[in-house]
Amino acid sequence: MRVFNVPLTPIPAFNDNYIWLWQDQDGHYWVVDPGDANSVINHLASNQIALHGILITHHHYDHVGGVEQLIEKYPRSIVVANPQTCSQSTMLPSECASQDIIRGLTVLDVPAHTLDHIAYFINDGENTPILFCGDALFSCGCGRLFEGNEKQLDHVMELFKHLPGHTLVCCAHEYTVDNIKFAQAVEPNNKALDEYLDEAIKRRLTNQPTLPSTISRELTVNPFMRIAHDSVRQSLNHKYNLSDATNPELIGKLREWKDNF
Ligand SMILES: [Zn+2]
Repeated sequence: MRVFNVPLTPIPAFNDNYIWLWQDQDGHYWVVDPGDANSVINHLASNQIALHGILITHHHYDHVGGVEQLIEKYPRSIVVANPQTCSQSTMLPSECASQDIIRGLTVLDVPAHTLDHIAYFINDGENTPILFCGDALFSCGCGRLFEGNEKQLDHVMELFKHLPGHTLVCCAHEYTVDNIKFAQAVEPNNKALDEYLDEAIKRRLTNQPTLPSTISRELTVNPFMRIAHDSVRQSLNHKYNLSDATNPELIGKLREWKDNF
């Protein structure tokens, strides 16, 4: 599958995970967060593709669980991860960027969902930029705060907001429809959400992924990226009886609301 001319395929795994398969500028194939090896091996075998490398965003089992089996099957593949995130790491993310193993790679520190969480932003100046963000950002939502705090989450969202608008956002879960329903509760008058819900439901009915999204789209629909907008602030002020809350306080409340939605 090519998305906006970028060779990207989301391989479905478990109930709602996507393991992104990406072909880099040199023709090498990478997978991101292979929680399940069999889904990847079957896909690669049926498309006669050899694996070149693995990128890991954080330590959760549904993101690293397939690494061991994949390197048994493809022993020459590079495993890009911090060692505390994945013990099979063969290359630090910082080395992958500084040695130009992937051209145009910037590794972003995005601690919030987990403290070790990183994201891979690839912008070589020629192809559409790509963001592999694991569970740090979902379409219309974000990962739960398992380890980090609201201040860190606010920071992470600010960082994502400033990426180029046409960046393809490759999240690790298909949560879009539920996330849009939550966003509609937060911003009932946001028309972009109504259109997006129709589109997302249609896609899911035909078993198509709703992803990748783009940063521009997320800026119009994702309440976690819209914390500075009056509609989101007013909604939170009303629900939690707040006044003069800071952005981190607001985003913390928004996360709490979503956790109980
Ligand atoms: Zn996770």
